[in-house]
Amino acid sequence: MSFKSLLSQWPLIQQLKTGARGTGLEVMTERTRNLRPKNEGAEVARSICPYCGVGCGQLVFHKEGKLVSIEGDPQSPISRGHLCPKGADTFELHTHPGRLKKVKYRAPYAREWTEIDLEEAMDMVAARMWDTRNRTFQEQKDGQCLMQTTAMAHLGGATLDNEENYLIKKLFTAGLGMVCLSNQARI
Ligand code: SF4
Repeated sequence: MSFKSLLSQWPLIQQLKTGARGTGLEVMTERTRNLRPKNEGAEVARSICPYCGVGCGQLVFHKEGKLVSIEGDPQSPISRGHLCPKGADTFELHTHPGRLKKVKYRAPYAREWTEIDLEEAMDMVAARMWDTRNRTFQEQKDGQCLMQTTAMAHLGGATLDNEENYLIKKLFTAGLGMVCLSNQARI
């Protein structure tokens, strides 16, 4: 590169030549000017932050079956492109190497955790629930029909939507007689 062209790239010269204020392209290096966003060319799916009941909108960028980034959705009427620090880290929720992908079980009196299959864990939860319900279900109280158990409770998570909450309520209250139910409702 000749001295003249090198000099012409100097931000001060660029500013003098273009009258710019020195805050734009004129002060960027060639490398900076050629930088591209990591999600350029990626496909995008619209989603909702999985963490809390605010329900901020997210754009999930993916390329060739791989997650590229998760950003705030400017078109969300709730968050208008913003995400709090927790929501802004949703990408890591999926990709962090420390993420647990197996069910851990510590048997009564055991000192160590063991890994078990999800299927086995679900069977264990169902068996314990059924056993608790059978032991504690009250059909009557003071001669009045009751049909309930207060020995089990369900606390919903932020990702539950209306349909899931409907099914939970139907199964746990109408089906099993549980009355202690709460959720973190979504719109
Ligand atoms: S981005 Fe933050 S405020 Fe918005 S839903 Fe997620 S956790 Fe809640």
